[in-house]
Amino acid sequence: MTEARHIVIVGSGPAGLTAAIYSARAQLFPLVIEGEPSSTSDQPGGQLMLTTEVENYPGFVQGIMGPELMGAFREQAARFGTDFVTAKVSRVDLASRPFGLWVGDPDADEPTYSAEAVIVATGAKALMLDLPNEERLLGYGVSTCATCDGFFFRGKDIAVVGGGDSALEEALFLTRFADKVTLIHRRGELRASKVMQQRALDNPKIEFLWHTSVIDVLGETTVSGVRLRNNESGAESELALSGLFVAIGHQPNTELFKGQLDMEDNGYLKTLGTTSYTNVEGVFACGDVQDHRYRQAITAAGSGCMAAIDAERWIEDQAAGRH
Ligand code: NAP
Repeated sequence: MTEARHIVIVGSGPAGLTAAIYSARAQLFPLVIEGEPSSTSDQPGGQLMLTTEVENYPGFVQGIMGPELMGAFREQAARFGTDFVTAKVSRVDLASRPFGLWVGDPDADEPTYSAEAVIVATGAKALMLDLPNEERLLGYGVSTCATCDGFFFRGKDIAVVGGGDSALEEALFLTRFADKVTLIHRRGELRASKVMQQRALDNPKIEFLWHTSVIDVLGETTVSGVRLRNNESGAESELALSGLFVAIGHQPNTELFKGQLDMEDNGYLKTLGTTSYTNVEGVFACGDVQDHRYRQAITAAGSGCMAAIDAERWIEDQAAGRH
């Protein structure tokens, strides 16, 4: 039988859990469908579950481990009465209200939950290279976020993989800390904008390795180097490094909402102006699923707060017959 809820939050990273804290304190008794344990960022707690130390989240003078921070977010949401379901949403029906959300069999006739309002906070995932030892060393020298982890590589030799604006932006940022940044690109031509290319080419700390693919990450407990293959000659070699930043793009987790919510060409959800409103009244989006610009835990948390406030006011207006 379908369980009726006021508000269902899909996703449990900083955005989803902040939305839960705010909507629980507004007496909306939210249900968070938090995802399922997995070895990728697509899990309860989101991308921070794959990081080690977080030093730029305000309020933690000495820093805090990513999983510990997300554990605290979750406890805080639970303290105000948030319910959690450790499962993935398999289907949504946003065509009419109350909205339908399925967990488990997507072909079941009845949705598992119905909701007056839905907050989408399913996040995004950093694309990875799928190398044998990449996942094992993630957080131990392999990173997908220079803003988060650059500081740990002061005076070290590191590399960035990718040839787009993200890779060059990360490489330029990392020159503040690292002695040398090697930009490893699979082709002989960058995809990044000309201005970023020039900046990177002009930076004496950045060295380019063209036509080169990383074929594995080396190191027992932390990264000690990478194994490379030259894509023209096929020759393999090793390069000693302390860190590898993978910057080959991100992908929003929006598959579930295709055909139902408006998206940008790159798959990110569209929100109206500076609000969390989507094109469907009663459905709000927050965090990385609608932000390809900032992608920080603190900005995701801030937008989760905005979504909860937008949803609360919208529900109030509904009840007062103002829609
Ligand atoms: P992107 O433009 O799609 O570039 C991805 C890069 O990674 C490409 O150079 C690609 O190589 C490489 N790549 C992809 N898969 C790979 C693999 N498996 N192995 C090795 N290399 C791989 O992604 P992005 O750099 O994240 O940028 C996304 C969008 O955001 C772009 O529109 C970009 O302009 C924008 N952006 C703008 C700024 C800025 O203006 N400051 C900053 C960041 C991002 P190929 O070139 O060979 O395909």
